[in-house]
Amino acid sequence: MPESQPNADGSAAVSLESLLAGMRVVSLPMTVRFRGITEREAALLPIGDRWVEWSPFLEYEAPEASRWLRAALTTFDTPSAPLRDRVPVNATLPAVPADQAVQVLERYGRWRTVKIKVAERGQRLDDDVARVRAVRERFPEARIRIDANGGWDLDQAETALRTLEPFGLEYAEQPVAQLHDLVTLRTRFDRIPIAADESVRKAEDPLRVARMGAADIVVVKVQPLGGVSAALDTVVASGLPAVVSSALDTSVGLAAGVQLAARLPSLDYDCGLSTGALLGGDVVRRRLLPEWDGDAAVLPVTQPEVDEGLLDEFAAADERQQHWRQRLIDCWPLAQAV
Ligand SMILES: [Mg+2]
Repeated sequence: MPESQPNADGSAAVSLESLLAGMRVVSLPMTVRFRGITEREAALLPIGDRWVEWSPFLEYEAPEASRWLRAALTTFDTPSAPLRDRVPVNATLPAVPADQAVQVLERYGRWRTVKIKVAERGQRLDDDVARVRAVRERFPEARIRIDANGGWDLDQAETALRTLEPFGLEYAEQPVAQLHDLVTLRTRFDRIPIAADESVRKAEDPLRVARMGAADIVVVKVQPLGGVSAALDTVVASGLPAVVSSALDTSVGLAAGVQLAARLPSLDYDCGLSTGALLGGDVVRRRLLPEWDGDAAVLPVTQPEVDEGLLDEFAAADERQQHWRQRLIDCWPLAQAV
């Protein structure tokens, strides 16, 4: 593989041909069903002598997936130095039945903050309340935040937040999908901070959230926002506190998230980067899994070392490799044009 120097804009000087020749797609088993999936497919792309992750979810079309590709190509474009050598992280609890909640959380080891998924399709508010209650009863000191992924309408969100408020919530993430509903919810309900996630990462203009006063906190992810540097710019321009999260990344993607979090001007909230605990396999031997440092569960700022034996072990089927090759071909011109 030839050495590559970055382009003037920070993107990696690589060719589509070299990426197609070296791309490896893995299918990692998950320890618990999350986002409706039990296996996580991710592509690892060779850039210079390193690997970067490109893992848009399978249902994403080329315009969205190409932004994730842009992020992969700019992974090593990190202009500023890290401000910290470790990053506090939260546990993430999928929308599992309440009686499984504690067992799933044990996978994370010790933690002080948990994000609980709510408003899952096919479930009712009673299910969410039971899940939150189970966690609160078992962990009375925990910082609990919820994430509805925009699954409620305005009235449902208001009812849900009033019902869940007594459990003590750090914040509510994307309770409703629409920006104007977020604005309305904030005016009607000022006791729980509102965080925006999809309204940032899926928006044409990720800063509209801040300009409209639609959130107290922005959730940022490296791949959807086009890379570490672009995500950092978004946070600074928003003027809001930020929570860096993952998208069920391998340790390679998680490490990029840690690089971003380590560069935020201030880090007021634990980051959603411990989702490696939901994966039953990875592409590095020294996985990025949270460790308790006496105060919080943390991840170190590291450069992950991909193990090619693990790329073989978890290699996706030939037909899936072919699918991703075509995906890369489709996304390549769009990633250049972003
Ligand atoms: Mg979210």
